[in-house]
Amino acid sequence: MILVEMTDGRCRSCGGQLQIVGADDVSLDVECLNEKCADGYTVETDSFADGGIHYWRLIMAELENGAEE
Ligand SMILES: [Zn+2]
Repeated sequence: MILVEMTDGRCRSCGGQLQIVGADDVSLDVECLNEKCADGYTVETDSFADGGIHYWRLIMAELENGAEE
């Protein structure tokens, strides 16, 4: 899982911190860390303030590593 900096993007429901739990070529699966909210949804890879590169690369690398374990 990759934590999203609060300055880059927040939960659309509560404004809480998000973590990225999955990804494919065009989208990111995110979950809210606020237990009372716990919203989960899919966003486009360029939804955060990183140009669609930073977080997408991180989660894709993590997913690839996880598949080998
Ligand atoms: Zn939330």
